[in-house]
Amino acid sequence: MFLNELYGSVRQRLDDMARIVSTGDDRAVIALARSEVPHLIEAVRTLMAGHEPNELGECPACSRVLQRWRKPWRRPTSPCKVYLSARRSLFDEDHEPRHALR
Ligand SMILES: [Zn+2]
Repeated sequence: MFLNELYGSVRQRLDDMARIVSTGDDRAVIALARSEVPHLIEAVRTLMAGHEPNELGECPACSRVLQRWRKPWRRPTSPCKVYLSARRSLFDEDHEPRHALR
C-alpha cells in the first residue's frame, strides 16, 4: 500500500463518518455510532499508548528526554501533545455542553 493511499483512506473514512454524523438521519447516526465508535476509541487508545507518561508525568515521545542529563530532577514543563489534543477534542470545553455526557 502506498503511503498516500494509506493516509487518504484514513482521511476519507473520517470524512465519511463526519458527514453521516452531521447530515445523516437518526438511524444512520445510531448505526454508525454502534459500529464505529468502538473503533474510534481503540484508535485513540492506540495513539495514546506510545505517549504513556512515566512516574514524573513525562511523555517519552514528546518530552525532551535528550536534555534530561542536564537537569535530571526537571519535571516536564508542557503536557504530552497527544494527551492535550485528546483532552481538547473529548471535552470540547470551548463549545456548548454535550447533553448525552452531562
Ligand atoms: Zn506525548
